[in-house]
Amino acid sequence: MAFLSILMKNLLKGPSTEPLPTADSPTPAAYRGKVTFDETACVGCKMCEHVCPGGAIRFEERPEGLRFMIWHNTCVNCGLCSHYCLTKAIKLSNDWHLSHLQADKYRLTDQALVAYAACSGCGTKMLPTADALMRLAYKKVSPRSEHLRHLCPDCRRSASVSGDIQ
Ligand code: SF4
Ligand code: SF4
Repeated sequence: MAFLSILMKNLLKGPSTEPLPTADSPTPAAYRGKVTFDETACVGCKMCEHVCPGGAIRFEERPEGLRFMIWHNTCVNCGLCSHYCLTKAIKLSNDWHLSHLQADKYRLTDQALVAYAACSGCGTKMLPTADALMRLAYKKVSPRSEHLRHLCPDCRRSASVSGDIQ
């Protein structure tokens, strides 16, 4: 009889495990899943590549900019890249759908291009200063800081020396 009462109680309580595969299982917000990359927020410092213990990230110089590549198969989801990324251009999402066939391990990649911008002073190719970095560096983006943003380091120095920029 005790058995029947326990059985009834458990039936009324319902399952206490995740509803998968009959329904979606909630993923914790802080789950360290698939890495995502936002090329518009990246400033090309390559810190993520430097700290990645698995060597999953690589940047390559291209004529049009910096090519970013990540091998998800090699990523160990440690979160170091995101931790050290100043602008949070690289993040770990809570997407855990990463299982794949062994044959597909080199295809599980993502690529992006951090495109060069032209210096507004001399036209030299330079890495753009991302909005995300400007918001970090200045409480309010002034016309002066906005002007500086579009100059290469050499033109910035010249502008400072000539008094164009105080
Ligand atoms: S993703 Fe972040 S850490 Fe990596 S190069 Fe871009 S700005 Fe630097
Ligand atoms: S989470 Fe860790 S292993 Fe994965 S790309 Fe970032 S630093 Fe590399």
